[in-house]
Amino acid sequence: MEYDVVVVGAGPAGSMAAKYAAKAGAHVLMIEEHATIGQPVQCAGLISTRAFEGCEVPETLSRRAIRGANIHAPDGRVLTVDGKRTMAYVVDRGELDRAMALEALKSGVASLVKTRFSSLRRQGSDVIIAALSQGEPIEIRTRVVIGADGLQSSVGRLAGLERVQTVFTCAQAEVYTNGALSDFVDLYLGHEVAPGFFAWAIPTRWDTVRIGLCSTERSLDRLGPLIERLSSRSAPSLLHFAVGGIPLGPPPCTVAAGTLIVGDAAGQVKPTSGGGIYPGTLCAKIAGTVAAEAAAHGNTSKDALMEYDTRWRSEIGRELETGLRIREGFNKLSDDDLNYMIRALDDERTLDIISKYGDMDHPSIVLRKLLLSTKAPRLLKLIRPLIKLAVVKSGS
Ligand SMILES: Cc1cc2nc3c(=O)[nH]c(=O)nc-3n(C[C@H](O)[C@H](O)[C@H](O)COP(=O)(O)OP(=O)(O)OC[C@H]3O[C@@H](n4cnc5c(N)ncnc54)[C@H](O)[C@@H]3O)c2cc1C
Repeated sequence: MEYDVVVVGAGPAGSMAAKYAAKAGAHVLMIEEHATIGQPVQCAGLISTRAFEGCEVPETLSRRAIRGANIHAPDGRVLTVDGKRTMAYVVDRGELDRAMALEALKSGVASLVKTRFSSLRRQGSDVIIAALSQGEPIEIRTRVVIGADGLQSSVGRLAGLERVQTVFTCAQAEVYTNGALSDFVDLYLGHEVAPGFFAWAIPTRWDTVRIGLCSTERSLDRLGPLIERLSSRSAPSLLHFAVGGIPLGPPPCTVAAGTLIVGDAAGQVKPTSGGGIYPGTLCAKIAGTVAAEAAAHGNTSKDALMEYDTRWRSEIGRELETGLRIREGFNKLSDDDLNYMIRALDDERTLDIISKYGDMDHPSIVLRKLLLSTKAPRLLKLIRPLIKLAVVKSGS
């Protein structure tokens, strides 16, 4: 088997990279280790309207519209942020992944499932990939391999690329609820519920809610009590359960000779929310295009592929770096600080600013606006270091 570009992994980043490589004229193969693309699901499925558009799937893909969030302080106080318009959608990740893969196939991509990448080696300017396909060993010759193989990326590791900086563990369950579902998500802050990150309850388009959390410690142990607390029924009502990790902080380089990595494999995840679909698919478009052009020009050296690294960092690198510093600063806040912050933000003018400038994909914008507008001295004291850290570190 011989291809210009081989994409390992058929998640959102893989399908998008494969599609863009094919659209740029390359002969592309995408391989996926699981028998069904999109399974198993390890995601809450919450994406901004911008991210949904960026996924380039038909408008008919079923989804639930979300217009705001109830943010729960550790002391139980609730700040309701109403975007007053559809800000996000909740999708079924399995369906989304299959719809994206289908779009890639329509663009001419070939695909194999139950095909597990196991190793790569350079031969001249080509890459020889070894995989196990339906239990049979196969070899594929390609000009460029794109590692869209998620958090544990063996493509990245075998190409000698450094790993992502930090991984947060997450646990989530989808539970039946006989309570009314709203078009708001609920987010829970505090060291008790989710140290280092947050917990969530996200309504789906069915009568179910995805309850989950990411944290720096014992996420799985914390899930049971969280479900008990939030579930509207006393009987256990679980439909789906998932554990997973969120990689934060891209490695210093996402390219080697004949290889590039994208999506979770490259730590292209928003550190403030853990959302990886928006940044991953954005970067995947660049990855696919650059890989196809490099293959067409017969130059797949690291220098040639560095165009991908440079271009994705100029598109979104700064926002990810800023998000990382905001997350670091946020994690230094005590529960008392968080309680104060939620209380201080709960005024009409401030909520208008949040509703006007709040952007799931670019949270630094609203933080800057808040910094400029707030008169509350303690709130200023809490927000200023977050922005300062972000500016100093991303500028250095
Ligand atoms: C609990 C949880 C909730 C989340 N919620 C959200 C959310 O609401 N919104 C959001 O935007 N993000 C969310 N994320 C993050 C999001 O799921 C990821 O950022 C996103 O899936 C990354 O896409 P990807 O294509 O890079 O990787 P993945 O989706 O992980 O896809 C990688 C693919 O590669 C395949 N693969 C791996 N190794 C091999 C191999 N050796 N050979 C062949 N195939 C291989 C895998 O089977 C998989 O299909 C969540 C994550 C978790 C853990």
